[in-house]
Amino acid sequence: MPEPECKPVGLISPQDFTPLAMPVGMLRLAGIVEESCVDGPGLRYVLFTQGCPHGCKGCHNPETHSCTGGTLYHGRDIVAAYAENPLLAGITFSGGEPFLQAAALTEVARAVHMAGGTVVTYTGYCFEHLCRISAAGYAAVAQLLDETDLLIDGPYMESLRDLELPFRGSSNQRLLDRTARATLLTPPQGH
Ligand code: SF4
Repeated sequence: MPEPECKPVGLISPQDFTPLAMPVGMLRLAGIVEESCVDGPGLRYVLFTQGCPHGCKGCHNPETHSCTGGTLYHGRDIVAAYAENPLLAGITFSGGEPFLQAAALTEVARAVHMAGGTVVTYTGYCFEHLCRISAAGYAAVAQLLDETDLLIDGPYMESLRDLELPFRGSSNQRLLDRTARATLLTPPQGH
């Protein structure tokens, strides 16, 4: 079945993209779940990032919206905690909006990959928006996309809520692995 079209709300212009101002290597997190089996395939370590600009109606995590809330962690401490559990299949970056902290998350993702784990990243942006943002000069956005094995994209849309969908809240959101993303970047033949 073809993927549904992206139905964006919130940010459209890359000029409106404002990453969190953070010391190098630091993350602002709303919470951590050390073992989850609902945030991607297999048993996963989940970071809920703090700060989100999307304002989706019906959001289940409104406490993550403020860009000044949450708790600061160093990425290396996250990696050390992750490494303590050999049963983990990988790490998931949820939110909040992970791409506001792309640089530090990229470093965590690289360490998880080095340890043999996988990386799932949720985002309220559509993949196409993230490409525009990275093309506008935000290299860390491209780097986090590169380190993401499975991207779950798009805002939560209450009118499209569907509890049957694996790993997603609404049917506009897509599961984009590397192959699916490469397909979206390839222009249709004959145009
Ligand atoms: S992107 Fe996620 S955290 Fe942000 S408003 Fe939408 S549902 Fe809430």
